[in-house]
Amino acid sequence: MARCSLCQREGVEGGYCSYHMTAYANLVEAFEAWKKSGELTWNGFLGAVIQAKETGGWAKDVARDLFSNGYAGK
Ligand SMILES: [Zn+2]
Repeated sequence: MARCSLCQREGVEGGYCSYHMTAYANLVEAFEAWKKSGELTWNGFLGAVIQAKETGGWAKDVARDLFSNGYAGK
């Protein structure tokens, strides 16, 4: 069984466990909303997410991972 690349929990889909996968989906959704209102790039968005005090731990893990490894989506 594959493990989450961020927290090593078992039973993952797509490289992340359900917690990190949910955080990833929320990040992509938030970025889609931000894109409509400005010029923010994906990396700029991730940087802001990583810096923000309000960002939860799961989302921060995912944002750091995507920031260093690139956007796995489209
Ligand atoms: Zn995880």
